[in-house]
Amino acid sequence: MDRQILVTRSSMPGFDEYCAEIKKLWDSHWLTNMGVEHEILQRELEAFLQCPHVVLYTNGHLALENMIAAMQFPKGSEVITTPFTFASTTHAIVRNGLVPVFCDVNDHDYTMDTEKIEALITEKTVAIIPVHVYGNMCDVERIKEIADKHNLKVIYDAAHAFAVKYKGISSANFGDASMFSFHATKVFHTIEGGAVCFLDDSLVNTLNDMKNFGIRGPERVVFAGGNAKMNEFQAAMGICNLRHLKNEIGKRKRVAERYWQHLEGIKGIKLCKPQKDVESNYAYFPVVFDGYAANRDEVFVKLGENGITARKYFFPLTNNFECYREYPTAGAEKTPVAAFLASHVLTLPMFADLAMEDVDRICNIIIGCGK
Ligand SMILES: *Cc1c(COP(=O)(O)O)cnc(C)c1O
Repeated sequence: MDRQILVTRSSMPGFDEYCAEIKKLWDSHWLTNMGVEHEILQRELEAFLQCPHVVLYTNGHLALENMIAAMQFPKGSEVITTPFTFASTTHAIVRNGLVPVFCDVNDHDYTMDTEKIEALITEKTVAIIPVHVYGNMCDVERIKEIADKHNLKVIYDAAHAFAVKYKGISSANFGDASMFSFHATKVFHTIEGGAVCFLDDSLVNTLNDMKNFGIRGPERVVFAGGNAKMNEFQAAMGICNLRHLKNEIGKRKRVAERYWQHLEGIKGIKLCKPQKDVESNYAYFPVVFDGYAANRDEVFVKLGENGITARKYFFPLTNNFECYREYPTAGAEKTPVAAFLASHVLTLPMFADLAMEDVDRICNIIIGCGK
């Protein structure tokens, strides 16, 4: 069998580069609790993301969960979100005692269908939590109009959208807040890690309290916070990875272009078109098999037989999870476009060091499935 190709492969700085960065930690013995690496990474991200406030977290999920908690919505309030996402988005809503109301996605960039939001708004609705799926930007302008009209908060799950820009503006600058994940599989990572980004000065203390037991000073605890701090080794990995990010995204772009060369124009294969005014990070390469000679699952199996892992991302939809079966809003049949995508989409291997020959091999297998 040919060499295995996984769906993703974490970017890593040179070993010596990372060692040089963590050398300081052997000098200081300061390993966590907002040390120098944490401070440097935070400042660098505020500059990179062009956002006044970045609060770092040990992972993206807790960043989102805390951001929602910081908004202090009454328990039982409704939050409009989409089911075409990773478990984290919906879980973060539910774990805050709020009710997810599932809005369908559109069929061109797979983000929340803004035409369908207003029909879901009730007197209990407090927020919209859309997802910049695959790094595609949501219709941030329309979502802002709707949120302003109905006095709703907007928190973006921007886990896929690090370094993406819309009309030259960083993805961190839309809505009331955005959450980024720096998990090892993401375009930019800190091994595990995440952040929330926002404009409102008054949220800084709240979020810092939430991630560190509510400890405000040596003898002052102001809030029953949890623990979700990013440690120094994570921050050091982020500092190193940020240096290479532009180059990594450039390499991902070449992979994406190679896929397009092979797969564009084949009947029954639908590729996700680049969005107008959006500078992409090439986080994922989704392909929808709709009317192709082989169906999604057949292509998935065939790739697997050849040592290639593609991913049914996202399948199942979160509104079909067994843990949400009892929710009145559950059920994939209520979000037909998302349901169609979940059963027809594959994300193909996508990472900076994916060799062009491997992209060729992957595409030849997919094309072979159609013969
Ligand atoms: C990765 C991811 C998360 C969660 O991030 P972690 O850093 O793994 O906790 C949330 N939402 C989406 C869409 C993701 O892809």
